[in-house]
Amino acid sequence: MSTDRAERLAFIDLAPQLERVRAGVEAGFKRVLDHGRFIMGPEVEALEEALAAFTRARSVITCSNGTDALWLAMLALGVGPGDAVFVPSWTFTATAEAPCLCGATPVFVDVDPEFFTMDPKSLRSAVEAVAAGGTFTPRAVIAVDLFGMVAPYAQIGAVAREHGMGVVADAAQAFGASAGGRRVGCLADITATSFFPAKPLGGFGDGGAVFTDDAALADRLRSLRAHGAGSTKDESARVGTNARLDTLQAVVLLEKLKIFEEELERRQKIAERYAGGLATLDDRVVVPRAPGETTSAWSQYTIKVDHRDALAERLQAEGVPTRVYYRTPIHMRSVYADFPTSPGGLPVTERLKDQVLSLPMYPYLSEGHQRRVIEAVRSVDALAGGDS
Ligand SMILES: *Cc1c(COP(=O)(O)O)cnc(C)c1O
Repeated sequence: MSTDRAERLAFIDLAPQLERVRAGVEAGFKRVLDHGRFIMGPEVEALEEALAAFTRARSVITCSNGTDALWLAMLALGVGPGDAVFVPSWTFTATAEAPCLCGATPVFVDVDPEFFTMDPKSLRSAVEAVAAGGTFTPRAVIAVDLFGMVAPYAQIGAVAREHGMGVVADAAQAFGASAGGRRVGCLADITATSFFPAKPLGGFGDGGAVFTDDAALADRLRSLRAHGAGSTKDESARVGTNARLDTLQAVVLLEKLKIFEEELERRQKIAERYAGGLATLDDRVVVPRAPGETTSAWSQYTIKVDHRDALAERLQAEGVPTRVYYRTPIHMRSVYADFPTSPGGLPVTERLKDQVLSLPMYPYLSEGHQRRVIEAVRSVDALAGGDS
């Protein structure tokens, strides 16, 4: 039996991508070693310009990671103690950490059963309950583009505006996605993304960026990223932090951005092949679909099945790796259990956590490997009724 890298079916394998960018990255690293500007070198500015051109966002502020990007967004909006920030519970922990790190209170909101993103109706009930309660001031919303699907920003923005709240997009999983022909980066007041290696656009380490069309917010974000820098070196405009992106990471991201558009197309093609291959299983396996007028970045390809754990075990036995995101929603973790939830509770979140299964998805997934995944999932037929 061969354990060759090429033979093994991986959940994610970026080795082929590394080979494509290696020469450019090595040349770029050499340039940085020569000029020696490891902090805020010219490549950081070049990356910010390239990301602005790609997204058409007016301002791009790169930063240390996606978690700091969210934190910076909170700080820029002036979120603090006594404020409520509305977040989904079904997301990566960082989404809820951002308001907590500012002393604000996260309020958990339910998600849409089909698209996995924030449900505007649940948001509205949560905001109205908080406003009526009088303990916290509704201050901001962080919507998450989960698994690469764009959240319904028009509806979320409408609720937010009624209550004078800012909207932050947590687009850590959706860089490259779009809605109505506009790329992620321009869909909310502030967009935060991550360049963690496994994200759609990933570096060789931690990295992130914040996007905004608002010049005043952009100035504040830039200052916050560098210790609250004021107009002169000896002046502080505010309390800030150190959240800069390394010049070496900018080199990597500039190279990967060159092939990113093509990688998004590959992901889209893989998603279509999955949908085709799993279509006849109709109600036993629900395949994901991007909402109308939007494209997904397909950071994950996440199906819904009733006998999820049994299927995952069977796939594992057949050498098909899968993952469950997120088995324990944040509001069900002890550290976060005392924060408020939307008045109707989070029934969709609590159902989805038992149904979702993410299949291998990365731009270099071969047709042969994908066929194996599809065949194995089709064995769900044999599971119907056999799951105790
Ligand atoms: C990965 C991720 C983050 C955090 O990004 P890091 O760069 O790992 O700090 C935030 N939100 C979501 C939804 C993520 O998937």
